[in-house]
Amino acid sequence: MTIGPVFDSQEELADSFHTSLEQFKRHFNKEESCVEALYTAKWPNGYRCPRCSFSQCYTIRRRRLPIYECGSCGHQTSLTVNTIFEKSRTPLTLWFQAVYLHTQIPAISAINLMHLIGTTYKTAWLISHKIRHAMTQSDSGKRLSGLVKINCAQYGRPYNPTIYRHPQEHPLLVGASLSLEGSLTHLKIKQVPNEHLVEDRVTPLGRDAFIYDHVDSRKSMVTSNILKFSPMRDRQLLSVAKHASLWINSTYCGIGAKHLQAYLDHYCYLRNHNSPFSVHLSRCASASVCTYKMLIGKPDTGVVPRPITLIYPQLLNKTPYLVSC
Ligand SMILES: [Zn+2]
Repeated sequence: MTIGPVFDSQEELADSFHTSLEQFKRHFNKEESCVEALYTAKWPNGYRCPRCSFSQCYTIRRRRLPIYECGSCGHQTSLTVNTIFEKSRTPLTLWFQAVYLHTQIPAISAINLMHLIGTTYKTAWLISHKIRHAMTQSDSGKRLSGLVKINCAQYGRPYNPTIYRHPQEHPLLVGASLSLEGSLTHLKIKQVPNEHLVEDRVTPLGRDAFIYDHVDSRKSMVTSNILKFSPMRDRQLLSVAKHASLWINSTYCGIGAKHLQAYLDHYCYLRNHNSPFSVHLSRCASASVCTYKMLIGKPDTGVVPRPITLIYPQLLNKTPYLVSC
């Protein structure tokens, strides 16, 4: 699957969505049809009480969205509880349009979403990040495996020949599973935390942390190159990282370090999943709650440092992956 083309302007991007968006809006034009689809997404095998797992309930329709009361323990829940939709006052019809637009190639900026669904910029921005939160959670459960290649790359300043890190330079690690024919089958692009950098260079410990976090090393043959200017770097991975940067810059006009990882995860999600809308909706309905406070409270690096003890055990166990620099 390819993610291109990168659009020349936001107007061109919005136009490309117009026809298919209108068809989508006609299909999900009422809250009732959205409730029905979300019910199937949340409970694909029928209602299940979150407290006692009982399978029968009473439906109470006094509010905007139905309340489901367990026929056994009386516990009340709704379709949006414990999902990215929780406590949102935005109608489901608009939420559905936002999910649809974010899962189309090449996606949409918050300002274009604001105009298309008629919300404030803050609401559009929050909805966008909640959808990306669901995408990140969905992809975090799948590790790279098989033939795996890892390369260093960067977002931001395109070329910095010095050994010092430029403030606009954000070192990345790009990892991909490859088919026997050499095409990418699953992609991950991750920011490298400061603790795994010496100026703009990724340390071997940073590479090992990436493998620990994102590769099923029991089922993988891993090759890596983390040397910034090495001629042995993988051209395919470098090209993907460059395209991710172009996509972020053309769609979102550039992103700072704090939220960069969410956009990188969004790019990888679009490359990794060519799924129907119902599957994307199921992922949104199974992702955990994400609030505005959580998003703005993230550390500026966009990377949550992990305890060093999480990294060392695997290194000491001499797992069977092969690493080269
Ligand atoms: Zn119950």
